[in-house]
Amino acid sequence: MSEITIVGMGLAGSCLAWQLWRRGVAFRIIDNNEIGSSHVAAGLVQAVTGKNCTVSWRYKEFVAEAEPFYREIETILHDQFWFPLEVLRLIFPHEEKRMIGKLFSGESLAWVKGELHDHAWPTAKAYILHGAARMDVPKFIRATRAFFDSHGLIDSTDHAIAKTSDITVWCGGAAGLLRQQPIVWRQRCAKGEILTIRAHGWQQTRLVVGRGWMVPIGDDCYKVGATYDWDSVATGTTKEARTYLEKLATELAAGDYEVIAHEAGIRPIVRKSQPVIGPLPDDPRQVVFNGLGSKGSLCAPTVSRQLAEWLISGAMIDEDLSSLDYFAKLSNP
Ligand SMILES: Cc1cc2nc3c(=O)[nH]c(=O)nc-3n(C[C@H](O)[C@H](O)[C@H](O)COP(=O)(O)OP(=O)(O)OC[C@H]3O[C@@H](n4cnc5c(N)ncnc54)[C@H](O)[C@@H]3O)c2cc1C
Repeated sequence: MSEITIVGMGLAGSCLAWQLWRRGVAFRIIDNNEIGSSHVAAGLVQAVTGKNCTVSWRYKEFVAEAEPFYREIETILHDQFWFPLEVLRLIFPHEEKRMIGKLFSGESLAWVKGELHDHAWPTAKAYILHGAARMDVPKFIRATRAFFDSHGLIDSTDHAIAKTSDITVWCGGAAGLLRQQPIVWRQRCAKGEILTIRAHGWQQTRLVVGRGWMVPIGDDCYKVGATYDWDSVATGTTKEARTYLEKLATELAAGDYEVIAHEAGIRPIVRKSQPVIGPLPDDPRQVVFNGLGSKGSLCAPTVSRQLAEWLISGAMIDEDLSSLDYFAKLSNP
């Protein structure tokens, strides 16, 4: 088997590393210690999303593989990263006509448990949805890094890429896409900002979704988010986003709160949050795994497994994930 180097240790690089590790395949990881979006992500995994209440692409299949994958790593690392949740979907009067129709039709209907009548938002209707989870991505990345570091598999210096390696897998997230590494991408990266708040005595256990969302992370603390900005991929937080997020928190928290953190990251997007994996068209030793978009927690286990199987035995990569298909369409739009 050729030596594999994984460049970048966010969610993509970490999941691929675990897939290789559990199959006994040798690899090393190079990470330059920049703060990628995995260090900021809320890690929400939910079936029904967005203003149109649509069911996420390949949701059932991805979630069925995600939970056991993360659970297996929890067992190895003696920690918890995957937190199952119910969703409280708030629907306000101005959107009621449109939204209720969408929620109670098509694939979304299967995820609705029923209406909650006793709740804290007097003007809204609240519906309970099942099948969601929060993946604590930042904790997962830290614990994964510590584990592979203790096995001597991580190198934090850029020059390490120059060392001979048979296969290099580029998992650089938004930094890789913006630097066009290792090839020219058509990226659609979107900046996102997020608040962490402490709400006093609220004790909400569900993920509350309205205009934005608010997810419990323990000790009456919550993440509130998130902004989407395709025009600016500058790092750092902004005043405008802070104002918007505080307004969301006020709508969703139904009580007093204090802000304990405000963070920003760049989502690595190349098409509609559908990742791209596999070799470069003109060099099969250069391999990519990028474009996890805004739903990386959900799809990274399946996508990393397909890539690992391709690296090990040349197994087929699904057409809608395949790098060869993606780059062919880029050159012949
Ligand atoms: C505000 C916000 C909220 C989000 N919420 C959610 C959510 O609720 N659910 C969800 O599933 N996803 C969410 N996401 C998206 C999620 O963060 C991504 O899907 C996923 O974490 C991307 O992982 P990645 O490994 O591709 O990229 P990254 O996390 O950016 O990791 C890439 C790593 O590669 C390293 N790197 C890059 N180039 C090099 C190089 N040349 N040499 C060495 N190292 C290199 C970088 O330092 C970085 O550590 C959110 C993102 C943001 C910004």
